[in-house]
Amino acid sequence: MKSIVLIKQVLEAPSITGEPGGEGQVGSDSQRVTNAYDHFAIEEGLRTREKHGGDVTAVTLGPDSAVEVLRESLAMGVNNAVHLKDPAFDDLDAPAVARVLAAAVRKIGDVDLVFTGKLTIDTNTALTGPMVASHLGVTLLTEVFRVDEIDLEGRTITVERLLEGGLEIVKAKLPALIAITKDINEPRYASLLGIRKAAKAPVTVWGAADLDVEAHSATRVVAKHLPPARPAGEVFQGEPDELVDRMVEKLAEGKFI
Ligand SMILES: Cc1cc2nc3c(=O)[nH]c(=O)nc-3n(C[C@H](O)[C@H](O)[C@H](O)COP(=O)(O)OP(=O)(O)OC[C@H]3O[C@@H](n4cnc5c(N)ncnc54)[C@H](O)[C@@H]3O)c2cc1C
Repeated sequence: MKSIVLIKQVLEAPSITGEPGGEGQVGSDSQRVTNAYDHFAIEEGLRTREKHGGDVTAVTLGPDSAVEVLRESLAMGVNNAVHLKDPAFDDLDAPAVARVLAAAVRKIGDVDLVFTGKLTIDTNTALTGPMVASHLGVTLLTEVFRVDEIDLEGRTITVERLLEGGLEIVKAKLPALIAITKDINEPRYASLLGIRKAAKAPVTVWGAADLDVEAHSATRVVAKHLPPARPAGEVFQGEPDELVDRMVEKLAEGKFI
């Protein structure tokens, strides 16, 4: 059983600072961490290996600092780590990121399952998994809340998908990409020994030249703006009866009643 987990480094508390209505800066004092949903994806990859054997490879596309999320996944127990890093990969939009990730999965080869998070907590498009699956031509399963069965001989997987107000059980063909929802499992903590080993473990680095892929975006973020400041609220003071009358008047003025 060969699995890949796609993980992304994100700002823990992404914030845009600046003057209301003016150009915003993305807060840089926030810590960089593994995307919360990707912890569940790593854990699911590890549990699948524990049940069916094989190996799990963590892959990230990101700047130098992104190696930290790979080290964390190695400390949790993944077998291999691949860092997709190249100046050509800076500032790519979601379709371009998906093309590069799919090229890396192809290069690793013979993959049975690709795990992703449902979305990222910073740019949260929730598009990356579906686009990678489409490039690879593999089965796509989103909102996966439980993996019920993997039949390696029959080449099928059965999962439970979380719907609004219920669960859907789906049997599908392998290979597949599954996008994981939160609370599918309880991600393990890395042991001290695991952290020490991970610090020295090799990390494979692939750039644009290693992957047969076009790394360019069709879109470019040209500015980030903050919403205009809200007008200050009105404060009424007085006796309760007076305040009630005033409030009813205000609601009528605003045509709420
Ligand atoms: C420095 C920087 C500059 C950027 N500049 C631009 C820009 O100019 N224009 C623009 O449109 N966008 C830009 N982005 C956003 C970037 O395109 C998105 O981060 C990326 O496409 C993934 O989309 P998402 O974060 O919404 O992921 P989602 O689709 O919400 O993520 C779902 C899942 O996909 C996987 N995944 C997502 N991203 C990665 C990754 N990088 N590596 C491995 N797995 C991943 C994870 O499993 C994740 O849980 C920039 C991002 C960064 C970090």
